[in-house]
Amino acid sequence: LDHQFKQALPIIDKIEEAGYEAYFVGGSVRDTLLNKPINDVDIATSAKPNEIKKIFQKTVDIGIEHGTVMVLWKDETYEITTFRTESTYQDFRRPDNVEFVRSLKEDLKRRDFTINALAMNRNGEIIDYFNGQKDIEKKLIQAVGIPEERFFEDALRMMRGVRFVSQLNFDMETETERAIQKHHALLEKIAVERIQVEFLKLLQGSGRQKGLELFIQTNLYSYCPGLNKHKSELKNFAQLDCSIDNSLIAWTLLLHFLKKTTDEAEAFLRGWKCSKKEMTQVKLALFALNHRLKKPFDRQVLYQTGLEIALDVETMIGCLGFAVDVEAVKKMYEELPIYTKNEMKINGNDLQTVLNQKPGKWLGELMTEIESAILKNEVSNESQELLKWVTNRYKLED
Ligand code: ATP
Ligand code: MG
Repeated sequence: LDHQFKQALPIIDKIEEAGYEAYFVGGSVRDTLLNKPINDVDIATSAKPNEIKKIFQKTVDIGIEHGTVMVLWKDETYEITTFRTESTYQDFRRPDNVEFVRSLKEDLKRRDFTINALAMNRNGEIIDYFNGQKDIEKKLIQAVGIPEERFFEDALRMMRGVRFVSQLNFDMETETERAIQKHHALLEKIAVERIQVEFLKLLQGSGRQKGLELFIQTNLYSYCPGLNKHKSELKNFAQLDCSIDNSLIAWTLLLHFLKKTTDEAEAFLRGWKCSKKEMTQVKLALFALNHRLKKPFDRQVLYQTGLEIALDVETMIGCLGFAVDVEAVKKMYEELPIYTKNEMKINGNDLQTVLNQKPGKWLGELMTEIESAILKNEVSNESQELLKWVTNRYKLED
């Protein structure tokens, strides 16, 4: 048993001592069988939320209407969810009604794919009602039960399926794939934010090529923001053979393949409901990537992007098959004379005094000019030098 499971064992034990059942479920069980590092340990139980709250001293209601209680135990938190079924989905996205049940099997039956419908008891024994272990062996993503019905219940599962194909480098079982192909338009009902989570995981999976091809093949792509008319660009993107390790790289490379300008990139990302901060960073990375495709980094571009984005851009350059020089980027960054405007040894007041002028638009413009001169090493960042540079320049232009 992995140490994260061991750490959670007292929780299972306490629930069982109180007369209920409790199991590890979901991604952690799947990933253990795949010999992959596990994220968080989820626990499913026959105890109702109020019963769980009686067993543990420190709990937080995080989704009590769905049956989930968070338990704080030895500086760790665990999500404990009551066995449940979900009935009568009318809007293709969430159950109208969650019904708590006392049987593990009923709970596992409502889960999306066979490999996610596994449970493990406190002794590490696997409970497998839907042949999840066989599908792990066969490397197959297969819906639990009748695929069409499952996607009608919750259309997000279609995206999740394609995401798992990419993340685990699995194939999709034929009937499951056919059902997605047939019902891909149901994705329209799903909130963009939730699609985005799956899409980003898909782009960062080790089986991205396979995942993206399926995403295209099933037509899911045509119900994603800004992708509808870009089948051939997406196909090219799917050919790319390198790992994508973060969402900034994922978005930027995608936009590169879609041949978006930075303005178009902004509209695209807004369609995906990205945050302002994400949009700014991706636009900066796209700008720097375009620069870097033409020539090496220069100090000004590096100053604008910062080291982190610059290194991601360098990674993308390698990904696109060009020569990379990470050390040169790091060295150039270390040698930058300033890292922010605040570090400039001259300010607006100094400029007004030395040039004897009222404040105005010129101030900001001149500060930017000086900033750029410092970065180009035309003047060193020392107050006397900067004042001298400004007066000289001003007199020359006069
Ligand atoms: P990850 O490693 O990315 O967290 P995961 O399988 O743990 O993958 P979660 O979204 O954390 O995915 O969900 C936990 C479990 O809940 C899943 O393994 C699955 O059993 C069930 N589940 C999650 N989303 C759905 C859904 N839309 N429909 C049915 N079951 C779901
Ligand atoms: Mg999980």
